[in-house]
Amino acid sequence: MLIVPEREIANLMTREAAFDAVEKVFAAMASGDAYNFPVVREAIGHEDALYGFKGGFDRAGLTLGLKAGGYWPNNLEKRGLINHQSTVFLFDPDTGMVKAMVGGNLLTALRTAAASSVSIKHLARKDAKVLGMIGAGHQATFQLRAALEQRSFDKVIGWNYHPEMLPNIEKVASEAGVPFEAVDLPGMRAADVIISITSAFGPSLMADHVSPGTHVACMGTDTKGKQEVEAALLARAAVFTDEVAQSVSIGEAQHAVAQGLIQDSDIAQLGAVINGSHPGRISDDQITLFDGTGVGLQDLAVAAAVVDLAVAQGIAIEVDF
Ligand code: NAD
Repeated sequence: MLIVPEREIANLMTREAAFDAVEKVFAAMASGDAYNFPVVREAIGHEDALYGFKGGFDRAGLTLGLKAGGYWPNNLEKRGLINHQSTVFLFDPDTGMVKAMVGGNLLTALRTAAASSVSIKHLARKDAKVLGMIGAGHQATFQLRAALEQRSFDKVIGWNYHPEMLPNIEKVASEAGVPFEAVDLPGMRAADVIISITSAFGPSLMADHVSPGTHVACMGTDTKGKQEVEAALLARAAVFTDEVAQSVSIGEAQHAVAQGLIQDSDIAQLGAVINGSHPGRISDDQITLFDGTGVGLQDLAVAAAVVDLAVAQGIAIEVDF
């Protein structure tokens, strides 16, 4: 069995490799070659932690396994550790033997940023210039860095519920040489692409804060009850997702579906656009919305890519298990 520790991931994994892995696995999901197992997520009644498993099998990439982990809200304050903790386990699909154990913390941020980037590549207008960010926490910096590579953005505008956190994303924009401006939520009307990545349980971005032709990537809602955008926005938009079953149960679409504004059948898989079996954006005026809920297969795809890189560079630790 191979081990790739968390400390090695930053030096091994690139945004490009994460993007390729996620784009491929979304396509495999849409063509029926890969599927996710039902998600287990439990409040374990200890340290206020949420713990669970996201797994799946990709027959095309021969990737089988799971990500185990969750959220420990007291880690940072009590122990100086990050609150999100996860580990990916890969298995040999021919024998069931464990193949690899891979640190999953940084990979989670990279694969989540890759998902919104893949959506921008396939759904945003080619001439998109202004990138809007809602959220300025840990994930937001990864999201922004990756998104800036998808179009020739000449400005980043940002809003955050806690405005004192905005310098986190301003720093990423200036490192990329793109000017940054803090705006109020109606100011998001200037954006051609909007990424929302917050832990909110109520909408910030309203339907009338979004101009025709915008692509919106909703990346923060990954649990029942969370919500970042007004449900009416989904009724105005062509809605895409990583996986429909997750979108309507734990994703942003849960609210629009519960309110009867849209149905499961109104939501398309982003992988179908990648495969060419769905046209994707059909006009410059259309609002497209990607509901990125985060699937286990994304984790397995980036973990498998990092194991290959670690083996090639002689960094993987081999254990007789
Ligand atoms: P974080 O704690 O670092 O940042 C939280 C962000 O949410 C901050 O910008 C904060 O100001 C904002 N926020 C908090 N309360 C808010 C409110 N009431 N209204 C509006 N904004 C509010 O968290 P993070 O690690 O950046 O994660 C952000 C979200 O992304 C979380 O909900 C997390 O579960 C989710 N996430 C999703 C995926 C996926 O695959 N879709 C993957 C990883 C994380």
